[in-house]
Amino acid sequence: MKMLLSVFACLLLTSCSSFRNELNNTDERIEKEFRPHVIEFQREFRHLVRLPIRFGLNEPSLAGVCLVMEDGFREILISKEVWKGLSPDQKEELVFHELGHCELNLGHIDGQYMNTGCPLSLMAPRLFSKHQALACYNRYKEYYVGQIKVGTGK
Ligand SMILES: [Zn+2]
Repeated sequence: MKMLLSVFACLLLTSCSSFRNELNNTDERIEKEFRPHVIEFQREFRHLVRLPIRFGLNEPSLAGVCLVMEDGFREILISKEVWKGLSPDQKEELVFHELGHCELNLGHIDGQYMNTGCPLSLMAPRLFSKHQALACYNRYKEYYVGQIKVGTGK
């Protein structure tokens, strides 16, 4: 029994570190600022991110976008202007949201989580406000991650 347990633990550790290594090998496809959040995404969802994520969105009303080309190529563009003004929780929420579209094929989910005034999902159509990022995302992160996992069957 003891032996079985240690094999299992080993496997978990191996898969964690291989996710991290893969990301380090992705050269410049993922801009530096986004990497900690992408690593966190990979860890939470056990899903390897392969698409480019870069600054280059100049639409004033948009924080980020997941582009899907006709040939299947995908990339995420983030507004540098918006990014500069975001809190760390908002940054993670934005990267997770766009990866939810581009990597997990999720659409938007509108609505309210219980009676908290918090958005129902990270896939809410609007970026969490600074207050929501702190009072909702930070506080109920386990719920938000779980909600996405249920949505993708992970
Ligand atoms: Zn969206």
